[in-house]
Amino acid sequence: MKRQFTPARLDVRAFAEDGSLLSGQARVGDFARLAAEAKGEGQDRPLTWSAQGELRDPQHVNAQVWVHLKAQAVLPMICQRCLEPADIPLVVDRSFRFVADEETAAALDDEAEEDLLAISRAFDLPGLVEDELLMEVPVVPRHDVCPTAVQLSVEDPDFEQPRPENPFARLRVLKGGG
Ligand SMILES: [Zn+2]
Repeated sequence: MKRQFTPARLDVRAFAEDGSLLSGQARVGDFARLAAEAKGEGQDRPLTWSAQGELRDPQHVNAQVWVHLKAQAVLPMICQRCLEPADIPLVVDRSFRFVADEETAAALDDEAEEDLLAISRAFDLPGLVEDELLMEVPVVPRHDVCPTAVQLSVEDPDFEQPRPENPFARLRVLKGGG
């Protein structure tokens, strides 16, 4: 009989050993931090995710535990160019390798190309879904093409932001150096 897995308390190794698949149909409002990015708008928007477990090299003493994660949602935000509402699509498609603990993950992080996480028998999968979607939220949300005419001053490539004074230059002056 196949083992049953609980997304919020996932036994990651068993999930990978079984090559199991979990998926969820949620709402943006179910994820508080994500919903906050949308300033409370679009709470009922669908958020779908799926996770596929994989045990690589299963005969090996150090078989690798992998989880392949996909998630998507469309977040209503405010376009910072035209200040009108903009639907910002968030798409996650990423694979994670689970290692013994946080220390191992940190130690291997530089050399490994994949994302590393500490293995757990009660891993918070929805938390990872939310973390990954949050990382896709643009710092400056914008329409690809704004629906309304945008003021020229912002679009003009010659328009320069006033540059903040370099505090170190000022320090040198104060010190009397040159
Ligand atoms: Zn816009």
